[in-house]
Amino acid sequence: MSQESEFSEGDLRNTGMSLKHDREWDYELDRIVKQVEEKGAKKVGLQFPEGLKRRGPRVADDIRELVGDDVTVMLSGQPCYGACDLDTFLMKRTDVFVHFGHSPMKNTDKVIYVPLFSNVDVFPIMEDALEELPEDEVGLVTTAQHMNQFEDMKEWLEERGYEVHTRRGDDRLTHEGQVLGCNYASAQVDADQILYVGGGKFHPLGLAMEHPDKKVVIGDPVNNVVTVADTEKFMKQRYGAVHRAMDAEKWGVIYCTKIGQGRWEQAQDILDDNENAYLITMDEVTPDRLRNFDMDAFVNTGCPRITTDDGPQFHKPMLTPGEYEIAVGNKPLDELSFDTFHGTW
Ligand code: SF4
Repeated sequence: MSQESEFSEGDLRNTGMSLKHDREWDYELDRIVKQVEEKGAKKVGLQFPEGLKRRGPRVADDIRELVGDDVTVMLSGQPCYGACDLDTFLMKRTDVFVHFGHSPMKNTDKVIYVPLFSNVDVFPIMEDALEELPEDEVGLVTTAQHMNQFEDMKEWLEERGYEVHTRRGDDRLTHEGQVLGCNYASAQVDADQILYVGGGKFHPLGLAMEHPDKKVVIGDPVNNVVTVADTEKFMKQRYGAVHRAMDAEKWGVIYCTKIGQGRWEQAQDILDDNENAYLITMDEVTPDRLRNFDMDAFVNTGCPRITTDDGPQFHKPMLTPGEYEIAVGNKPLDELSFDTFHGTW
C-alpha cells in the first residue's frame, strides 16, 4: 500500500532524507523527553511509518536512557501511512504519544508529531523545470517532506522574475503550499501554471485532476526528471473501473475506522441511496481482507489512494464515492473527478 508516506528505509537513502540522530536522524529527542517530564508521563507510545519502523527500538532505547526505568515506552506495530493514521489504541493507553514521519494534521496536546524532511537539493530540478513554466505567474506546491525548503524555493522563483502564488489549503494541511494525496487545496491559487516539487506520480496526478484548468509541472528532485502531468492514462483506468461496476447489484461500502479517514456521512448517503449496499467497517483496506465478501463492487469512503493506487488489485471494482454516483447512474460520466478529503476529525 502506498498512501502518504513516500519513504521506505531504502528511499531514505535514495532521497537523501535527513537522518541525523545516531548521527543520522534528528528525531527531536529533546522535545519528546521534555514533554514526558512536563507531563510526568509513565507511558510513552511511539508510532513510525513503515519505512522507519526498524528504527523504533533504537529510538525507544534513547528515550528510556534519558527518562529512566519507571517510564514504559511502547511501539505501535500497526501499519501507518499518513498523519491521518494514528494508532488510537496505543494513543489512549499512553500519556505521551509520538507520531514520526509526518507533519501534524490536527493540533493536539496528546500527540507529538516529529516530521521527517528530505535534504535532497531541489534547485537543480527547479532550474530544469523553468523551461516548462513560460508564464510570469506560478503556483508552488510540495509535499511535507520538502517543506523545510519551501520558503527558499519561493524566493528562488521570485529571484528569477516569477510572481509566486501560494496558500495553505485547509486545516487538513499543516503548511502553506503543502499537498497531500487526498488534498490539493493549496494549489487553488491565481496562476495558470503550478510547479509541484516532489517525488511520486500520485500527487501531481491528483493535482492535475483537481485543477484541470492549470498546467501542472512536476520537478522530481529524487529521480531528477521534469514532466508535465498527464491524466489520460489515469482517467482511462478510472473509467474502466466505473464501467465494470455499472452492472453491480451488491455493493460493499467501506467505512475506514482510522481516525483521519472516516467519512461516515458519505457512507451513510450511499446506504440510504441503495438498498443493495452493505456497510463494511475496517481499518486496513486490503484486497485480501475483502476477498471473502461476496460483493459485485466496492466503494471506498476511506483513503482515496487505496482506491486509485491499489484499485486493480482488488477482486472486484473498487470505486471512490464520486465514481459510485456515476456507476449507479446518479451522475453523468463526465463528472468523474478526483476524490479529496477536507478537514480533520
Ligand atoms: S487519507 Fe490522505 S493523508 Fe491519509 S494516507 Fe490517504 S492520502 Fe495520505
